[in-house]
Amino acid sequence: MTANAQDEPAGVAPTDIWSEDYTNMIFPWAPANDMDRQFKEYHSYETMKDLMLQLEQENPDIFEFHEGLLGGTNARGEEVTADTYEGWYYGYSSPWMKITGDVGGGEYNEFVGDSGNYADRHDVMIVGNHHAREWMSYTVAIMQLEVIAFSYDNIGYDNDGDGLVDEDPWGDDNNDGILDDDGDCLALASEFQDSNGDGNPCGPGDLGVDEDYSEQFITDLVNTREIYLIPMLNVDGNIYDREVFCPAPAWESCPSGGWRKNLRNNGPELLPDPNEQVDEDCDGVDLNRNYQYEWGWPLGATIPLVPGTCTPAEDERAGITNNDVYTGPFDTKDNDGDGRVNEDNVDGEDDDNDGQTDEDWAGGNSEPETRFIQDLTEMNDDAGNGASEFKSTLTHHSYSELILYPWGHCTGCETSDHDQLVYHGDKMAEMTDYTNMQSSDLYPTTGDFCDWHYGVHGSYCYTSEIGTAFHQHQDDVDHIAVRNLGTGFYIAEIADNPRERADLGIANISKNQFIQMPEMVNVPSKGFIPVDMCVANGFSYSLDESVSHVMYRTVKPSRAQSDYGPKEWSTTAWSMAPFEDTSSSCTLLNGENGTVIRSNLPIPDTISGQVHYKAMLGTLGGGDMYLYPANGDYYVLSIDYRADYGTFGGALFMFLIVAGFVWGGLAICLRMMLTDEEEKEFMDALIEEDGS
Ligand SMILES: [Zn+2]
Repeated sequence: MTANAQDEPAGVAPTDIWSEDYTNMIFPWAPANDMDRQFKEYHSYETMKDLMLQLEQENPDIFEFHEGLLGGTNARGEEVTADTYEGWYYGYSSPWMKITGDVGGGEYNEFVGDSGNYADRHDVMIVGNHHAREWMSYTVAIMQLEVIAFSYDNIGYDNDGDGLVDEDPWGDDNNDGILDDDGDCLALASEFQDSNGDGNPCGPGDLGVDEDYSEQFITDLVNTREIYLIPMLNVDGNIYDREVFCPAPAWESCPSGGWRKNLRNNGPELLPDPNEQVDEDCDGVDLNRNYQYEWGWPLGATIPLVPGTCTPAEDERAGITNNDVYTGPFDTKDNDGDGRVNEDNVDGEDDDNDGQTDEDWAGGNSEPETRFIQDLTEMNDDAGNGASEFKSTLTHHSYSELILYPWGHCTGCETSDHDQLVYHGDKMAEMTDYTNMQSSDLYPTTGDFCDWHYGVHGSYCYTSEIGTAFHQHQDDVDHIAVRNLGTGFYIAEIADNPRERADLGIANISKNQFIQMPEMVNVPSKGFIPVDMCVANGFSYSLDESVSHVMYRTVKPSRAQSDYGPKEWSTTAWSMAPFEDTSSSCTLLNGENGTVIRSNLPIPDTISGQVHYKAMLGTLGGGDMYLYPANGDYYVLSIDYRADYGTFGGALFMFLIVAGFVWGGLAICLRMMLTDEEEKEFMDALIEEDGS
């Protein structure tokens, strides 16, 4: 039994259990009548940007607002400026937030323009709204921003107002196959269990499911990660979709369609054609077909017949009108200066056998928005090793209720990280009740974000397809955003070492390891209190105290209580104690053999009361850190006064000497040392022995 697990109050109606606000989905970070911050309405580009600026101002320790990049010489040797990243039509760069603890510290990156770059923090990129009409895709990212702002350093907030804290994190925390870890949704009368109306009682997005995540977890995440949150990549397209293409309300004017691409001018006149208004039959590039990895083939159907243009509707010869998945123009440059063009496309292979790989691409990353992603990825190199810092990446789309992993460009193919990608995809599918599948099993694509991030940079990249419509009705915005909130935190959590995490998760190693529960701890009569952990043989744990340690604190009755004052407990701050190896063996929870590592807690012999303890175990790779018990809980070990008779006699002898000089001091000393009952017994014994 962990410290903050208690019985739920029984109830049949939501208000029997939760606060009014929680029951009505009034979020704590904004007034109830603030419709977009309450997710009762969508944000527009303008309100989103205003919010980001406001949150930056209110949280300058963790948020740094940016638009596009500053530019300079990029990783490909190209000279670019901030203008490079401005949308073709409305001229805005994608707004984004750099999120990390002490964001003003660390290294400054003069190309990207951000500070808060720390070599030992793991970077993660989360991108919404590649596709203009997919409004939930940026909405979920904005909710993540609100949650981070509200939760950071707001430890132990009771999200649902039920008197418990952090009792129900995202996903199935205790591995029992039930998402409602604390059982509060399940305790409702059945008519209340499917509050989001998706037909799945007590599923993701329902009240009481994954509703009380740990603010400590979020705080730790922010302090150990650099999160690059880009809610709305395709600003041009989004503004056009909202203001022109789908007159409000969009869910009525565009029940099944909307504007998808950016607003590149594709003609009908050849470029440049600066005075033209948007030609809806022609213009735009599908940003999620414009990344360079396997760009343009083998799925040539997404490229117009005339490169660099689209085929106008009136052109019956082509038989296609608005090509909604237009990949962007062919590259016409000799990228490597060898006199040939497009001879080595980006596919991880040396197509022309010249000893270089992918040096003369055929196309892709031609748009301001995709160049922004490309240069942010390639120029954010904190470690200076030329590799992408983004070990995990997530892009939100809508719709279809799916989690997708690479590859997208080929069918019947698998990445070399297939099992690991499936593992994390399953986790995110579990917390959203979505279906996890390989991207190309939905339909083959070319040049998508995740194929590029994984194929070129080895990043574990996922596409979430949120909800059931491009323009979800505004009444559904809040609960769909809540349902999808966990994935952004999950992708940030695994950003340290997604492959190792998956390997361990697949082997289920971390769950079979354990730290001794209180009843197993052997409290000696004096000296250190040893607390053992049973770790799997072959688990490459680190003994570096900064990642592997026991956190402990003592809780004892205060003097006020001993003097019959109000009940007060004095709690010390958490301290850290390292682990050391032993040669002892132990039995893991799955029955296999493990090895004991031990932490000796320097608890004073004189303490009686409680010792709280919990452990963190980090891996040698520096990647993973596991908590025991899980989820920020701790164990409570009760210890009585534990000095043995000899020590106690010694103390008594000393007190008698003290008493001889300062008789009045004895009672105070005893009170400090003993509980009420012990004090009474001791005084009785003392009086008997003295015969006085
Ligand atoms: Zn999409």
